[in-house]
Amino acid sequence: MMELDRSSEVIRPKDDRARLVKQMAADLGFNFCGISKAEFLEEEAPRLEEWLNRGYQGQMKYLENHFDKRLDPRLLVPGAKSVISLLYNYYPAADLARENGLHIAKYAYGEDYHFVIKDKLKIFLNRLREKIGDLDGRAFVDSAPVHERAWAQKSGLGWVGKNSLLLNRQMGSFFFLAELIVDLELEPDGPVKDYCGTCTACMDACPTEAIPEPYVVDGSKCISYFTIELKEEIPDAMKGKFENWIFGCDICQDVCPWNRFTQPHREPRFAPPEELGTMTKREWIELTEDVFEKLFRKSPVKRTRFEGLKRNIRFALKK
Ligand code: SF4
Ligand code: SF4
Repeated sequence: MMELDRSSEVIRPKDDRARLVKQMAADLGFNFCGISKAEFLEEEAPRLEEWLNRGYQGQMKYLENHFDKRLDPRLLVPGAKSVISLLYNYYPAADLARENGLHIAKYAYGEDYHFVIKDKLKIFLNRLREKIGDLDGRAFVDSAPVHERAWAQKSGLGWVGKNSLLLNRQMGSFFFLAELIVDLELEPDGPVKDYCGTCTACMDACPTEAIPEPYVVDGSKCISYFTIELKEEIPDAMKGKFENWIFGCDICQDVCPWNRFTQPHREPRFAPPEELGTMTKREWIELTEDVFEKLFRKSPVKRTRFEGLKRNIRFALKK
C-alpha cells in the first residue's frame, strides 16, 4: 500500500487541524461542525438493540442490517480516527404547510439533500487533502449505516430531544446531518447538556402517538414512515390522524420551542418550485403523473413514486 504523505500533518497539531476543519466547514456553508474520536458507540449500542427488539423500525428492515458498522465507524473506514459531524440548515423562508391544504415535510421542498450535501462533502474532502496531505476518508449523508444523530450529539452539535431528533440551541432541529469519517487525528469536542427540561410539547402533539415515552419514537407509528417507507396500504387504524400530511411530517418539530427562532436557509437548491407553494387541495387530488414529475423531478418526494403519493393523498383525505 502506498505510504500516506503526512508531512504537513506532523507540522500541524491536532487542535490546529480541528480549527482548520471547522473553518472549511463554515466556508462551505455548513452551520455547525463538531468532532468526535472514531470509536465504538458504547452508550448507543444497548439503546439501538432495544429499539430494534421492540420492532419500532417497522418495515424499515435495512435498519437491522450492519448493526456493528452502525456503531463503529472504524468498520466503515478502516483506520478511521475522527468523525466530523456537520449541520446544514433547510428551514424554508415560507412554510408551505400553512398556506395550502396538504403538507409535505419542509426538508423535501427543494432538490434532494443527498445530492446537494454530497457535492459539498466531496469538495470538503478535496480541500482537506490539499491543506493537510493525503488522507483516507468517506463522506456520508443519510447514505450508509452511520448513526448520525449519536455522532452529532457526541460532537457537541446538540442534544437528542424527546422527539428523538437532534436539537441545537441556535438552530432548533430543521437541519440535515452529514459526516466525514477520516483517518486523521483531530481534537474532539464534548457533548452538550439536554435542554428539553419539563417540556413534552412534541409528545403531546404527535397525532399517531408515535412517541410512547420521552426520547423514543416508534418508527412504525410515525406519519413519515407511513407516507415514505411503507409500501403497502396505510392501515385503517390511522385514518383521520394524518392532519393533512402527505409526505413526511413536521409536527413534532413545528411545536418544539427550540424551533421558534429558526432562521431560513440560504441554499438556492432547496428552493421549492413556484407551483408547489400555490397547490390547492383540489390540485393535489387531481395531481397527474406529468405534474408530479415536474414538481418533484429532483426532490426527495420522488422516493414515494407517483402512485405512492396518490395513495398518501387519498389516505390523508379519507373521512
Ligand atoms: S414526525 Fe409526526 S408522526 Fe412522527 S413522531 Fe413526529 S409528530 Fe409524530
Ligand atoms: S418539543 Fe419540548 S420535549 Fe420535545 S424535543 Fe422540543 S424541547 Fe424537547
